[in-house]
Amino acid sequence: MRGMEEVVGASSPGTLPNACRCERTAGSAGGRILPHRRSVPLSDPAVHRPPTIHTVPLGETQTNAYLVVVESSEGRDCWIVDPGVDPQPLLDLVRREGLAPSAILLTHAHYDHIGGVDEIERALGRLPIRLHEAERAFCETPLLNLSMFGGRPITCRSPDATLSDGEELHLGSTRWRVLHTPGHSPGSVTLYEARHGIAIAGDLLFAGSIGRIDFPTSDAEAMKRSLRRVLEELPDATRVLPGHGPATTIGEERRANPFLQDDLQGW
Ligand SMILES: [Zn+2]
Ligand SMILES: [Zn+2]
Repeated sequence: MRGMEEVVGASSPGTLPNACRCERTAGSAGGRILPHRRSVPLSDPAVHRPPTIHTVPLGETQTNAYLVVVESSEGRDCWIVDPGVDPQPLLDLVRREGLAPSAILLTHAHYDHIGGVDEIERALGRLPIRLHEAERAFCETPLLNLSMFGGRPITCRSPDATLSDGEELHLGSTRWRVLHTPGHSPGSVTLYEARHGIAIAGDLLFAGSIGRIDFPTSDAEAMKRSLRRVLEELPDATRVLPGHGPATTIGEERRANPFLQDDLQGW
């Protein structure tokens, strides 16, 4: 059911127009557009259908923006997660699929994950932005969101609401638990859908690596606690959709990721 990856266009760093690596967990045809979240009756046959998640690498850092789409017989619900710098390929996909995203969720507020927020809102209208409270100030502060160091100060407006540990977010029939997983940054979160085994992990965990912990607001000990937590709480089959690079699974990273060996004692 999961794991079918579809590659549309090239996605080499720096040459990204139309680049879209789409991870499809289900078909995406049909359905009229419903801009707002609503609950789906349990009798709906689509209630157990997995979400379709499109991966769109954006900007020089090739940050993965995710377009999460959940279908029901009534239509499609959609979130944008981490719209990075130069989000035109993401906007093109939204238009092509005829989607009406209902919110922008941010795994954290480094510039490469928030750089497209303003442009998205200019194109699609104002959307609720959600981010962990610990990074509220990052949005408007290039020094904190690290864009200061890239020679191009980047900001976005402050979030409308926060994401808190343990909170459950609903998108159509899917249920996403917010895990506060700080370390790379103080307000990093992982969005975990248990029934379909999907974790959108931001810059916590990558295929074969982990997020950087050498920034002024990073915390190595918090990073270890967060990584131990996801290894403990998320089953091996959980598909991890990271902030950069290809998708992986908790099991594969537990087995082969050099940063996760020896109870994380090696760094
Ligand atoms: Zn980051
Ligand atoms: Zn990043």
